[in-house]
Amino acid sequence: MRVLAVAAHPDDVEWLCGGTLALCAERGDEVFIAIATNGNVGTGDPSITREQIAETRHKEAIASAAIIGAKVIWMNFDDEWLFDNRETRERFIDAIREARPDIMITLNENDYHPDHRLAGSIARDCRIPASVPLVKTKFPETPIPTVFVMDTIIGNGFDPEFFVDVTSVMETKKAMLSSHLSQVAWTEHVFGTEFTENMFIHARFRGIQAGCTYAEGFKLLHTWPHTGDMRLLPSGKK
Ligand SMILES: [Zn+2]
Repeated sequence: MRVLAVAAHPDDVEWLCGGTLALCAERGDEVFIAIATNGNVGTGDPSITREQIAETRHKEAIASAAIIGAKVIWMNFDDEWLFDNRETRERFIDAIREARPDIMITLNENDYHPDHRLAGSIARDCRIPASVPLVKTKFPETPIPTVFVMDTIIGNGFDPEFFVDVTSVMETKKAMLSSHLSQVAWTEHVFGTEFTENMFIHARFRGIQAGCTYAEGFKLLHTWPHTGDMRLLPSGKK
């Protein structure tokens, strides 16, 4: 199976669906991580330019993806300035077409950050035009994927329909998130909490809800056409 996770920022999917992606890779899926923005304002260090931090974050994303053998699709829009327009839609359509996914995992419509909300809605809105041959972009059309919506940051306003038990791959999920070294001090500065700890607390909370140690929560995108359901995701149970 082919799996595409669509992120707003270089370190989004590790926290919210990194364990599920690791399980997909374990079962032999081809995994793609499309990242809308280049994270180019993700530093508090005035000696670092936007170009330098973007380059660092691209390398970190590739290092994280390499842990599970995933490929990064780098869309390279400015961090904090994602908009829904023809340019972004064409780039998202190409990300979907390049990955040719059976499963696409997107951010939720009520997540905390505008880039998250927009990356999620643009990805969902591009799944149909990505299948239309006369919508011409760099890559040819691709079948409409089944879309899952990932959790929000720390779970605010998200009530999962189902869970993936990620207990067996928590160390992999942690290693992926830890690849984003430049973000440790920065996110702690902005949010006052350390993101690896937050990720563990979140996964443990979902695990308690799911009846296992660590879990990730998802919803199915309930809209026409119905192409599959949660049975397409790995169970995580050994
Ligand atoms: Zn983000």
